[in-house]
Amino acid sequence: MPTSFPVYNPATEAIIAEVPNGTAAEATAAVDAAAKAFPDWAATAPRARAEILRRAYELIAADIDQLSALITSENGKSEADARAEVLYSAEFFRWYSEEAVRTEGGYGSSPAGGTRTIVTHQPVGIAALVTPWNFPAAMATRKIAPALAAGCTVVLKPAAETPLTALAIADLLIAAGVPEGVVNVVPTASPAEVVTAWLEDQRVRKLSFTGSTRVGQALLEQSARRVLNTSMELGGNAAFVITADADLDAAVAGAMIAKFRNSGQACTAANRFFVHREVVDDFVARFGAAIDKLEVAPLINAKAVAEVSGLVDEAVADGARITHTGPVPATGWYYPATLLTGVHPEARLVREEIFGPVAPVICWHDEQEMLAQVNDSEYGLASYVYAGRLQDALRIAESIEAGMIGVNRGVVSDPAAPFGGVKQSGLGREGAREGLRAFQETQFFSVDFAGA
Ligand code: NAD
Repeated sequence: MPTSFPVYNPATEAIIAEVPNGTAAEATAAVDAAAKAFPDWAATAPRARAEILRRAYELIAADIDQLSALITSENGKSEADARAEVLYSAEFFRWYSEEAVRTEGGYGSSPAGGTRTIVTHQPVGIAALVTPWNFPAAMATRKIAPALAAGCTVVLKPAAETPLTALAIADLLIAAGVPEGVVNVVPTASPAEVVTAWLEDQRVRKLSFTGSTRVGQALLEQSARRVLNTSMELGGNAAFVITADADLDAAVAGAMIAKFRNSGQACTAANRFFVHREVVDDFVARFGAAIDKLEVAPLINAKAVAEVSGLVDEAVADGARITHTGPVPATGWYYPATLLTGVHPEARLVREEIFGPVAPVICWHDEQEMLAQVNDSEYGLASYVYAGRLQDALRIAESIEAGMIGVNRGVVSDPAAPFGGVKQSGLGREGAREGLRAFQETQFFSVDFAGA
């Protein structure tokens, strides 16, 4: 196995770094370090942990220039998107510095009398974290911050495409006062080798994974052998619904964010636009005018460009029409912002996660039929609804099978809100109180209470 692997800049196709290639031995050494650090970290007072997390928030936010430049160079996203990601990723440390000290449990009487029940929350133990390349900072901090708040130590495997950001964050955490061994990053170009070493290690008690449904399913199967505590943040196929009376300017602005942030490489990216037939021509004209001018950031690699292009070609061969495309530079792994109409409901373009800057528009007129189409998907992560009347928006939102719905908004992510999906989009939630509970086990004491 090569001792290092290259990291590319998707905008130039140039190699920007060579990173040591982690092996099973290094994976185990990382668990050794996490195991050594665990007792002290778990026993550290919540306030002391909180203050370290707060310092981590401050250091990450203060380092925005360097961190965002690193994200742009290895992931390709625009400077604005990278800066937004740095602030979003720092917020997880701020939020969980505040949650770390909210340690309440429960105290109650048993119904039969004579005993008391005390409920508490213990750190789950050493947690293995596996993250994707599309948000190299935020997907790591969304796991590290609650894990540390709960008193866990962690081993983290970033995506091979974007290991540099995770390594830079680990350095900032040391500077913030996180003790050695609490956070251990193992980059590798052999993910199965490293992650299998962790899943088979008796000391690892938790797997928190963000990535594709396909890999998540395989890791769930592996985790079943040790009945491992798992959290899964998987793929999506978000619908973006527009009713006849929606504010179209707002809907276009929301659609631009929901579709083109990160060039469409977001699990929450709008994948299918369901537009009411009374406004579909108007929407396509206005959305298309914005797309004509939109210069997107590159996709992550040449394979991603080939995959997106294949989905579009197939839809066009099946009768869809490309109505608008944006400009792209001559070099780099780019695919233009693209708007299509007349897409067949069974097309792969609307059934699979596109993960690129392509917007298929489907015209609807009957709400029940539209909702049946929206819900005819194995995914259920995010969706969006734009409607003139809030009661219509909420009725439609409540009928959509998804963990998160943007109502008259094109973005749902918020560290204080429970992020996650239903169906094959995942198990569990990140962010909010739920994200902390994901790194805790509930324990109760049944107490004989003489005199009760
Ligand atoms: P991916 O599943 O290919 O990779 C995710 C991680 O798993 C990477 O670290 C990768 O190295 C690792 N991995 C790959 N094969 C593995 C194996 N056999 N054993 C162990 N680890 C393995 O996903 P990706 O291409 O990096 O990211 C894109 C996907 O992530 C999309 O499907 C997207 O929707 C999803 N995603 C979901 C969320 C969410 O919160 N639900 C957030 C971001 C991305």
